[in-house]
Amino acid sequence: MIEFEQVAKKYGKTAIAVQPCDLTIEDDQFICIIGTSGSGKTTLLRMINRMTEPSEGMIKINGQDAKNLNEDDLRRKIGYVIQNIGLFPHMTIRENIMIVPKLLKWSNDKQAGIAERLIQRVDLPLDFLERKPKNLSGGQQQRIGVIRALAADQDIILMDEPFGALDPITREALQEMIKGLQQEMKKTIVFVTHDMDEAIKLADKIIIMDHGEIVQYADVTTILEHPANDFVEELIGKRKRNSYYNIEMTVEALMVPQVEAISLSKSVTDAIRQMSDKKVDTLLVVDDQKCLKGFVDINFIERNISKLKPMTSIIEIMERDTASVNKKALVADVIEPLINHTFKYLPVVDDEEHLVGIVTRSSLVSLVQEQLK
Ligand code: ADP
Ligand code: MG
Repeated sequence: MIEFEQVAKKYGKTAIAVQPCDLTIEDDQFICIIGTSGSGKTTLLRMINRMTEPSEGMIKINGQDAKNLNEDDLRRKIGYVIQNIGLFPHMTIRENIMIVPKLLKWSNDKQAGIAERLIQRVDLPLDFLERKPKNLSGGQQQRIGVIRALAADQDIILMDEPFGALDPITREALQEMIKGLQQEMKKTIVFVTHDMDEAIKLADKIIIMDHGEIVQYADVTTILEHPANDFVEELIGKRKRNSYYNIEMTVEALMVPQVEAISLSKSVTDAIRQMSDKKVDTLLVVDDQKCLKGFVDINFIERNISKLKPMTSIIEIMERDTASVNKKALVADVIEPLINHTFKYLPVVDDEEHLVGIVTRSSLVSLVQEQLK
């Protein structure tokens, strides 16, 4: 936990970078700091690990006054990532990942296996570890940059506009990755951004700064629904709760990637057995390339059981007209079909019609309730 008690930063006698503020950041939260340029975001962030000394007030890290922690303790507990997280070109990927554990003088035992574990976590091959950054694509290098920030296993990670200069697609991929890793690895991340969409996507809670003052500190829903003042209102613009789904969330983010599917070449008997084993009422039907072709339904099979032979092929009985949705479609686009039709779920496909998941009614319900909390 990070606690600020009447913490302020002044430069010289009059210039106030951060006005006296109280702030509590709970463990395992993703906190975004947002505000205009010069509003004090970097100063607020850097005071957490005393790279910038506060001029007033007290900062406590896990209950301990940060003043009583020496620099080594702080670096061990708190990681810091600056803009664009550049890799050192003359070092291998492994050396890049292991910089901070080495600087912290971890024993060889403690260092063993970290690079391997992390690179696998972001789905890159192990042999990349011995390569130089220039032999990786830009996006791959950025992924290494992110896992490097996690290598020393600090509980708190401070990030100052780390994705600031990236193209939107790389940026989006990295946002998803860092959010996923943060939740999985249970880190507290304090992340400065000037992009409200980025803050909304990543944050559990957002700190909004204006002229050195924290004007609002609240969860995303509260900020969207109850902006503290005109400044916050302007920052969030038109992103009200419902329209926010339209803009932001894709079906892919919401879908369940495991799907019960059966091959075209299987028989009715196979289908019944699979439905029984997996306790499902319908099976999606795919061809050898895993492309979605239709579905079979237990009710249909039962109604027609007298006419069917055990070895009747799925291809003869399946329903071909199955609705589906592209994984890049927006969640807003599936709300209506899921509410108005009898489907309990919609199959999700990629551009080549490969079945990649399903989006269920219950996942949509949880999403909406999550937003209403
Ligand atoms: P942000 O990160 O939101 O752009 P900063 O925290 O970097 O803002 O800066 C907040 C204010 O403090 C600005 O007015 C800036 O000019 C001032 N400031 C930052 N660092 C220094 C410094 N080392 N000396 C004097 N003023 C500074
Ligand atoms: Mg800054």
